Amino acid sequence: MKIIMLGAPGAGKGTQAKMIADRYGVPHVSTGDIFRANIKNETALGMEAKQYMDKGLLVPDELTVKILLDRVAQEDCRNGYVLDGFPRTIPQAEVLDEALAAQGERIDYAIDVDVPDENIVRRMGGRRACLSCGATYHIEHVPPKKEGVCDVCGQPLVLRDDDKPETVQNRLNVYHEQTQPLIDFYRKKGVLKTVDGTQDMNDVFAAITAVLDA
Ligand code: ADP
Ligand code: AMP
Repeated sequence: MKIIMLGAPGAGKGTQAKMIADRYGVPHVSTGDIFRANIKNETALGMEAKQYMDKGLLVPDELTVKILLDRVAQEDCRNGYVLDGFPRTIPQAEVLDEALAAQGERIDYAIDVDVPDENIVRRMGGRRACLSCGATYHIEHVPPKKEGVCDVCGQPLVLRDDDKPETVQNRLNVYHEQTQPLIDFYRKKGVLKTVDGTQDMNDVFAAITAVLDA
């Protein structure tokens, strides 16, 4: 099962992708997590990506596509995966399609988690992330057991640099200009499924499993 999560930054793609990965036994592949791990480890890739991420801009396609294709070529992705944060541009989607077509494969579902911009701004300010293990919380909706500490690995939680209000609006503009056109791209391919992402996260997940189990 090959799934793409679409939606604005903060729509809940990562939250739902992790739940899908657990339930269907496929890896959760997040380009944002891969970049953040590289930033934490101070790799050359991380240093380059950070320049764009901190401004709320997209990392250039050449860099991002290579990382993603390397990742999905790994053994654990053989039976499928759930992509979170990739593709974010039409050229990225086209490269992925071509790479899959070369192996006689295709994307099965593109799930658009639909959330209006007003809700996004509120969600991002409350998001707290663990940069060690990638777990995500929300100070009101999904609080950790102990404030400021990751339930999974005990490391401190942070407000991501790119979740600061001045960057969120930039990320939303970039989303509308460069990523939203993917909704039509996948609709034309007949694989688009839209779910109402303003619901409680368990209700969003129920809507997604209804699609995947149909
Ligand atoms: P994305 O991966 O699309 O950027 P996340 O999954 O990280 O988004 O979610 C953004 C923030 O909103 C996080 O703090 C998360 O805990 C919270 N969140 C996710 N889904 C919901 C929901 N259905 N209702 C309320 N808050 C949510
Ligand atoms: P995310 O964790 O998905 O919100 O991604 C955080 C940031 O990483 C984005 O704002 C971009 O700067 C960068 N990024 C992640 N995925 C991609 C992608 N597919 N293309 C370009 N930039 C990306």
